[in-house]
Amino acid sequence: MTVQEKINALREELNNHNYNYYVLDNALITDFDFDVKIKELEKLEIENPAFFDSNSPTQRVGGEITKNFETVAHLNRMYSLDNSYSKEDLLDWEKRVQKMLGTSEVKYSCELKFDGASINLTYENSQFIKAVTRGDGFQGDDVTNNVKTILSIPLSITKDFVSNFEMRGEIILPLHGFNKMNEERVENGDEEYRNPRNTASGSLKLQDSAEVARRPLDCLLYQVVTSERKYKTHFESLENARKAGFKVPDTIALATSIDKVFDFVNYWDVKRHDLPYETDGVVIKVNNLQQQEELGYTAKAPRWAIAYKFKAEQVSTILNEITYQVGRTGAITPVANLEPVQLAGTTVKRASLHNADQIEKLDIRVRDTVFVEKGGEIIPKIIAVDFTKRLENSEPTKYATNCPECNTELVRTEGDAKHYCPNEFGCAPQITGRIQHFISRKAMDIEGLGGETVDLLRKEGLIENYADLYDLKVEQVIPLERMAEKSAQNMIDGILKSKNIPFEKVLFALGIRFVGETVAKKLAKHFKSIDKLMTSDFETLITVDEIGDRIAQSILDFSSNLGNIQLINRLKLHGLQLEVSAASIENQTNKLEGQVFVVSGVFHQMSREELKKAIEDNGGKVSTSISKKTNFIIAGDNMGPSKLTKAQDLGVEIISEQDFINKIN
Ligand code: AMP
Ligand code: ZN
Repeated sequence: MTVQEKINALREELNNHNYNYYVLDNALITDFDFDVKIKELEKLEIENPAFFDSNSPTQRVGGEITKNFETVAHLNRMYSLDNSYSKEDLLDWEKRVQKMLGTSEVKYSCELKFDGASINLTYENSQFIKAVTRGDGFQGDDVTNNVKTILSIPLSITKDFVSNFEMRGEIILPLHGFNKMNEERVENGDEEYRNPRNTASGSLKLQDSAEVARRPLDCLLYQVVTSERKYKTHFESLENARKAGFKVPDTIALATSIDKVFDFVNYWDVKRHDLPYETDGVVIKVNNLQQQEELGYTAKAPRWAIAYKFKAEQVSTILNEITYQVGRTGAITPVANLEPVQLAGTTVKRASLHNADQIEKLDIRVRDTVFVEKGGEIIPKIIAVDFTKRLENSEPTKYATNCPECNTELVRTEGDAKHYCPNEFGCAPQITGRIQHFISRKAMDIEGLGGETVDLLRKEGLIENYADLYDLKVEQVIPLERMAEKSAQNMIDGILKSKNIPFEKVLFALGIRFVGETVAKKLAKHFKSIDKLMTSDFETLITVDEIGDRIAQSILDFSSNLGNIQLINRLKLHGLQLEVSAASIENQTNKLEGQVFVVSGVFHQMSREELKKAIEDNGGKVSTSISKKTNFIIAGDNMGPSKLTKAQDLGVEIISEQDFINKIN
């Protein structure tokens, strides 16, 4: 066997193992044996770089960093779907279809509507080329590096199938994996992810593909798009896609009439709760591809398909108690503690009640029987009280007056939906929460220190605020439970390293109420230093773009607090970045001051993100939608036709990428 043959044989074998494990759920070898073979292949590939192949199974562990996801035009538009909610809607749709086709000989493919992020996989000559999100349907983001780490997606097709095609599908997070991720987050003191769908689509946009590889994502496929006329029906094309290695769920079924479709709907309305992933409905498609072509598309959806949405499931149960949670900013969230009840496949014990107004609106009281519903969110909602079951001696709920953690009297400022515990520096969950926020990834990004350790450090009396972190010594940390010398050192190194984190992130890390990531960026850019920010008055603050009364007041409150002033001074002494660095001020101008830009299409010299940054660096503003306020549209290739019409209607000036570059140089 030549080296090349050996490499090819190993690749095929490993692909086959991935297929058996991730698609068929049927492992043929142990993880250990798999690793041995991957290492063997890796070694051969390193020794023989001429046989490099980006689709090799060794190229799927991630590691590429994508700073900006490039916008890419879809070869074929990715449409949305029309919705239906009743059997009548479906019968109407069938009538329209039969009328347009002039026949009642129509078969339907019934599929589950997978709840995730749509993806378009392009294959050329049976090789995976790229993965692009749906975006606006005309163009999406190139997320190839991230999608490649999903091991159920074949990168190289060796079986009989069409050779140039797009596979459309949904990237999902199966429930098991999602719950596991959340368990870990709770352990680290991070906020739980709300639902699998958002987490799946968020995962696609992570910059580090190695992090994506760690997430238990999967990809379910539901459409083959190709100009090769090998298959006559949609069902047949999917059956063959499955044989070729794609994960096409076998829940798909054929129906000869809407009545049969409805049997499918009714069956899955109940059985969906046993599935390992979430579905929010059924998609019905005309099966014959010739007929699909005849039916064509409306402005936004195919006429040959329709979605049917399941109704959200409701149950009733008893409200045992209302408790109150204190968040890191002191915000109080009332929680309904329910008599445990089965809902949509899980046991529900708690539901959020949001705030005092919500409790009043529902007129919800302890011992009431309440209706609970599970919508798109993992945390269920209380829809209403069953007043027919209210106990005679029931009394209206009195909202908490004092903090459940520190007993300080709660405050509620006008216009705020929530109550707050004002004891910022003495209330345990606020102290811990503020430090946990400070060290989090999007803030100071301190490696080697997790939320749980912060809690421990505080309980042990080693830290009371984030400035204390910078005084920590390895010797103090080592005696802590489960802390080895190496991890203690890593932690201290991580803390020291964070002194280089740029000002805008430090500003976000401080945890000033209402100052999120974006606002922190705006403030950093405008004021350039913490001193200038903290000495500004209300009038100056609200002149800053997007800073309203509420944020301005919150900054004033923060700045006038003696404790905060001391903290900031200590951070300064420790050498944190409390002003923008010279390097980031460079290249910034006011050339585009007061001008609003919309960026649309695919560009050649700069990426979309680079364009946006250039606009902002030169004092301009980027907006996502075209309005009367828009001054310029920078149009690239394949700008969406609806945007073009709107721009022309409003008389907004359309300029090219080159025009823009000339403007700023
Ligand atoms: P909507 O986002 O409500 O317009 O619904 C359209 C989306 O449903 C598509 O973009 C797909 O991402 C998604 N979808 C999920 N399952 C299917 C399926 N079996 N067939 C077609 N689309 C599906
Ligand atoms: Zn408190």
